[in-house]
Amino acid sequence: MQLTITGLSKTYANGVKALDHVSLTIPTGMFGLLGPNGAGKSTLMRILATLQEADSGTAMLGDIDVLNDKPAVRRVLGYLPQEFGVYPKVSAYHMLDHIALLKGVIDNKERRALVEALLQKVNLWEHRYRRIAGFSGGMKQRFGIAQSLIGEPKLIIVDEPTAGLDPGERNRFYNLLTEIGENVVVILSTHIVQDVQELCNNMAIINKGRLLFAGAPNDALGEMKGRIWEKSIAKSEVDGYHASNKVISNKLIAGRPSIHIYSAGDPGNGFTGVEPSLEDVFFSHINGAHNTAAR
Ligand code: ADP
Repeated sequence: MQLTITGLSKTYANGVKALDHVSLTIPTGMFGLLGPNGAGKSTLMRILATLQEADSGTAMLGDIDVLNDKPAVRRVLGYLPQEFGVYPKVSAYHMLDHIALLKGVIDNKERRALVEALLQKVNLWEHRYRRIAGFSGGMKQRFGIAQSLIGEPKLIIVDEPTAGLDPGERNRFYNLLTEIGENVVVILSTHIVQDVQELCNNMAIINKGRLLFAGAPNDALGEMKGRIWEKSIAKSEVDGYHASNKVISNKLIAGRPSIHIYSAGDPGNGFTGVEPSLEDVFFSHINGAHNTAAR
C-alpha cells in the first residue's frame, strides 16, 4: 500500500496559501516531511487525517479515496496530533481502554490484552495508573503512539512529535517509532532535521506550501556532494559574506560564526569543502541556494 497525493492545494480564508499543488508518493516505512514552522506540514497532516478539507487535488491510500471516503480512512488511521490540547485527568490504562472501546474492540478480554501489550510496548507499564495530565512530554508522546496503534493502522501520522522532548526522551521515542511495522505508511512531520536523519528512508522538504524535494535522504546528500563549503569568520564579516555568497547556514561554534555556503565549484577565499549533512540539504532548499546557484 502507498499513499499518492496529487496536486493538493489549500488556501485559508485569510488568503494564506498553506499548500500549493503538492504531489507526493509515500511508500510504506518511515517518511519524513521536513519543513520550517509555517511550511504547511500540519495542514497536510490534518487533511490526510480527515480533519480538514483540501480545496483541490486528490489523495489515494491504496484504493481508498482519502478526501472523499473519510470513514474508510479513519478505520486504518493512527494519528498523533501536535497537541492533544487538554490532557485527561484519567490514568493511561483507563484512557487507552476507553479509546480501544471507541475504536470497536468490544471484547473485554481482548481489549485488556491489547491495552496491556501497548502499555508494555511504549514503556508506560509501571506508570499505567498515573494520570496522563501529570506525565512528562516524552511520556505523553509515548502514550500518543500507544493510542495511535490501536486498531492495527495502515497509515500513521505523527505531527511534530519530538518538539519539546529532551535528548533522552527523543531517543526513546525514536526507538519506539522504529518498531512500527514496515508494512505501514508512517508520516513523520517535523522541523527537526535529526528526526529525519535518524529514522526515515524517504523524505520530502516543503516550505511556504510548496514541495522542494522528494526522495531518499542519501540522494539528497549525493546532489550536494562537493558543493558545500565551510569557513569560520568574524561576527562583523557575516553580512558581507551574505551579500556575496549563497550562504545556507550560519552557526556559532565556540562563539564564532561558522558559515556554510553552496557553490558548484571551489569558491577559494579560505573556504574548505565539507561532507554535506542533511541540515545543509534542508537549508539550501529552504534558502533557495540550491536552485539559484550556478550548476
Ligand atoms: P506547519 O505545520 O508547517 O508549521 P501549518 O500547516 O500549521 O504549518 O501552517 C501553514 C500556514 O498556514 C502558516 O502560514 C499558518 O500561519 C497558516 N495557517 C495555519 N492554520 C491556519 C488557519 N486555521 N487559518 C489561517 N491560516 C492558517
